[in-house]
Amino acid sequence: MIELCNLTIHEANRLLIEHQISSVELTDAVLRRLEQVEPRVRAFVTLTQEQALEQAREIDRRRAVGEEMGVLAGIPVAIKDVLCTQGVLTTCSSRMLENFLPPYDATVVTALKQAGAVIVGKTNMDEFAMGSSTENSAFYPTHNPWDLERVPGGSSGGSAAAVAAGEAIYSLGSDTGGSVRQPASLCGVVGLKPTYGLVSRFGLIAFASSLDQVGPLTRDVTDCALVMNAIAGYDSRDSTSAPIEVPDYTTALVPDIAGLKLGVPREYYGEGIDPAVRDTLEQALGVLEKLGAHVDRDVSLPSSKYSLAAYYLIAPSEASSNLARYDGVKYGYSVRDTESMWGDMFKTRERGFGAEVKRRIMLGTFALSAGYYDAYYAKAQKVRTLIKREFDQAFEKYDALVTPTSPTVAFKIGEKTSDPIQMYLSDICTVPINIAGITAISVPAGLVDGLPVGMQIIGKTFAESMVLRVAYAYEQATEWYRKRPSL
Ligand code: GLN
Repeated sequence: MIELCNLTIHEANRLLIEHQISSVELTDAVLRRLEQVEPRVRAFVTLTQEQALEQAREIDRRRAVGEEMGVLAGIPVAIKDVLCTQGVLTTCSSRMLENFLPPYDATVVTALKQAGAVIVGKTNMDEFAMGSSTENSAFYPTHNPWDLERVPGGSSGGSAAAVAAGEAIYSLGSDTGGSVRQPASLCGVVGLKPTYGLVSRFGLIAFASSLDQVGPLTRDVTDCALVMNAIAGYDSRDSTSAPIEVPDYTTALVPDIAGLKLGVPREYYGEGIDPAVRDTLEQALGVLEKLGAHVDRDVSLPSSKYSLAAYYLIAPSEASSNLARYDGVKYGYSVRDTESMWGDMFKTRERGFGAEVKRRIMLGTFALSAGYYDAYYAKAQKVRTLIKREFDQAFEKYDALVTPTSPTVAFKIGEKTSDPIQMYLSDICTVPINIAGITAISVPAGLVDGLPVGMQIIGKTFAESMVLRVAYAYEQATEWYRKRPSL
């Protein structure tokens, strides 16, 4: 029998409804697993065991008196430490916010709480979500449960590792350039980046506001749809929230993709993509064809090659503005030992931020400066329009596009830390989706040398149901998602 800590949301929910298990038992099983593996994985920054058990008891009480509850009720979740949790430390894995206790919950956290979720803790990440390996955490790196000497990906590495290791049933991450999908790929779980504006950013600590989205990390596609049902939707407290009708995403879970048109953009299979990853994707495309989809390999998105360059101007520019608020005056880390206010502010930022964050602030400040704005920032925005237009054209012909999620499997801890450009290349397949504001999911599609490979399925704006449908059909036909690391 499968251990309780390795259940999916829908499996656990069934057992809870049938009173075969209680939420306290389930939470206990997850917390025991956590105790056992966390010293090796280090997926968490803060644990909230006591509150979790209290929440679980409360849900059990309500269920016992016959109260109707949603599918997430009583099920343990881990939250990336970029999301504000009222009264619970929210650090963004930065010294700058080491002692920050938010006075409010992010909207997505409120939504989960209202759904009866049991929060077990806050997960480790790259500082301010800048990175692809979780090595930029100011505290410690997280280890990949499939091979503890390797990275879990990033920046939501803690959230992905926690789900893969059985330390939570599911988790939330954030994705600015790939930070939900890439760690999902490297840890063998499912990760979705919603269309920009679909999920509220209220209470999500800002990195690059025109790109950031919150997304779920789960053990299968069904769970992904269930979490999306809880977190998607209009929020008046986020000025970029889309005022749209949100469908029930579980209706997309039909194992039928016969006749769908899938495009395979060649730019995502070329230089820099590990041949073993490419072979794995080739097999996955074969499965999609067998399921009756028309797979067109003659697709080109030529502007995609400028995505990374545009991203590393736009994201740092927005970050340099967003991170100006950390001045040691209002909240967060504060140095008060120089002679002047400016001196204190300077020292606060010098000591409070890590190297990668400072690199981005400098890059962004430069790109936005009067003499260079047109040459860099404005140019990058024009490229952004071109990339978006190319995707729009592709979606006139195709229902979805299929690519690798990450160019490689999980790499060794320390392997890329001295070369930022190599690290940035980890997001070459995921960044264009954020640039275009569209949606994409990563699903487990095979193993190379015992390490997970992810397939990315890309859809147009608000086509979450379409990518979930393709992902679900593929998942049901292959069952790669059932593979778990042996920790
Ligand atoms: N790895 C990319 C970066 O460093 C993306 C991060 C993210 O999606 N938050 O910016």
